[in-house]
Amino acid sequence: MERYWNKEIECMSREDMKKLQDERLVAQVKHVYENVKYYRDLMDKKGVTPDDIKSTDDLHKLPFLTKADLRDAYPYGLLAKPLSECVRIQSTSGTTGRRVVAFYTQHDIDLWEDCCARAITAAGGTKDDVCQVCYGYGLFTGGPGLNGGSHKVGCLTLPMSSGNTERQIQFMRDLGSTILCCTPSYAAYIGETLHDMGYTTDDIKLKAGIFGAEPWTEEMRHQIEDLLGIKAYDIYGLTETSGPGVSFECSEQTGMHINEDHFIAEIIDPDTGEVLPEGSVGELVFTSLTKEAFPLLRYRTRDICVLSRKKCSCGRTLIKMSKPKGRSDDMLIIRGVNVFPSQIETVLIEQGYSSNYRIEVDRKNNTDTLDIYVEMNDNHFSDVVMEIQKSEEKLASAIKIMLGINPKVHLVSPKSITRSEGKAVRVIDKRKLHD
Ligand code: ADP
Ligand code: ZN
Repeated sequence: MERYWNKEIECMSREDMKKLQDERLVAQVKHVYENVKYYRDLMDKKGVTPDDIKSTDDLHKLPFLTKADLRDAYPYGLLAKPLSECVRIQSTSGTTGRRVVAFYTQHDIDLWEDCCARAITAAGGTKDDVCQVCYGYGLFTGGPGLNGGSHKVGCLTLPMSSGNTERQIQFMRDLGSTILCCTPSYAAYIGETLHDMGYTTDDIKLKAGIFGAEPWTEEMRHQIEDLLGIKAYDIYGLTETSGPGVSFECSEQTGMHINEDHFIAEIIDPDTGEVLPEGSVGELVFTSLTKEAFPLLRYRTRDICVLSRKKCSCGRTLIKMSKPKGRSDDMLIIRGVNVFPSQIETVLIEQGYSSNYRIEVDRKNNTDTLDIYVEMNDNHFSDVVMEIQKSEEKLASAIKIMLGINPKVHLVSPKSITRSEGKAVRVIDKRKLHD
């Protein structure tokens, strides 16, 4: 039976949800216009006043905010409440090299944790569960967000943070953890370590995992589900919108429901800024309706995905977003062809390899080079050079079919690629070093 944290909201009719969003948007635009000079200037420049925003139908009139704006306004320029009313800051992990600082009032923390509680409940969590949180704690939003959600649900919460993987497994066994929260790459590492320690899924009680904060493929989901004997749920969010819990997966596992009472999602053409119809692939843009301290309007996430209102078997009416393919700035342009690391991951796992790989892009004699380092696993392991070469060629041609360009594949020994305890860094673009 499907469980909801807040059935009234999660299963609300489209009409009622739109009414709620309309009211909230009108109030939020006023709040921001009055309190955030930076955004007021952007609105003035575009010739828009709060009176022009009468409902969500007018959303497109508002100016966008980008990561560059966040950097310009750092640290206090987008703050909409006095600092004395703020109780917390969190910051991005700086994956793309630029830190963002976000502020929270107590109200903001409550609604963020509530969003995470919805995600945990959708994954089957109740107060009888033991929830092991191995996202990093600290400035990164992963640990604090899921920790708060787990408390709200009433799970016994294990605030492990990431790292010390054998100890994670010992606690998991001793305390009978039933839900695991971490990045998908760390989940795969925990699963691998479990088996290396001589245990099987019969030795643990895990039933579900809530994994996010980085892109991961369907193939990787199946691999983690097998390694840990669980159902693996996706969760999405970013520091700029609070953190994890902006959207979450239900039992249908065909995309993540967006918490539309707090966030309006739009898909735009990243080049022109034009709003695209439902079902189009484009850049995800969020407007936060309820946050007080750091309420971003029309924030461009640079994440590329698709929105869908197709009826969901879980009963939720909240719009769904597809797994982000990656950020627009994760996309590599190699010999003029657009390449997402997730496409390479899909092929690797389909061909029976693990998600331990490294992609290196460089430029030699004015031509881009693409080198993919992949670990052999027990099924593929060989020390016969001819055999290894044959496997490398087979894999390279499968990747060529997916991408349209030829990579050089290097099979390397098992366990030689560094494991990730947080967000995995899988791409090294050496071209940037020469520029
Ligand atoms: P940073 O930009 O430093 O990584 P955050 O920790 O705030 O900062 O990360 C937010 C980003 O992480 C999102 O914009 C998105 O690109 C990525 N992300 C978060 N959750 C997911 C997910 N479930 N699937 C794919 N990407 C995700
Ligand atoms: Zn659903």
